[in-house]
Amino acid sequence: MGLLKGKSEGGAGGKRGHSNMDHWGTTDEIKATSRKRRRLHAKNIIVDEQHEDVPRYLCNQCSATLPAIEVSAAVRGQVSQLVRSGAMIQAMDLLRRNRMSLNAAKAVCTHVSPKKNQCHRCSEAIERGEYVECSVCYSFNYNW
Ligand SMILES: [Zn+2]
Ligand SMILES: [Zn+2]
Repeated sequence: MGLLKGKSEGGAGGKRGHSNMDHWGTTDEIKATSRKRRRLHAKNIIVDEQHEDVPRYLCNQCSATLPAIEVSAAVRGQVSQLVRSGAMIQAMDLLRRNRMSLNAAKAVCTHVSPKKNQCHRCSEAIERGEYVECSVCYSFNYNW
């Protein structure tokens, strides 16, 4: 229904445009700006949709959006172990084998706490839990 309404509105607009053919310059300028706006708008929608589809965490320290992933406890344990032993690449590989994109895997691995209940950035103690924001530097931690 919404589509039909949109079409008839567009048609009316087109007719109005034809009656003003003398002002080509102005019309082109208007078109250019409205095109730009539309593109920006579309971009925003994509970002919003991403947030709706996959729940994400926001790191308030580096502004990264981080996936709220559903990997098994076993995988979480392995990832944190690998990161803590310095095997970042292997930790990322493991997440990628669990259907995570490279960028997401990278973001997760850089936010894993170096020790249980310790912030990965400022090393202050953080609350217990698996997904914790540091109360000192506001970094998000995968406290797995
Ligand atoms: Zn961060
Ligand atoms: Zn911190």
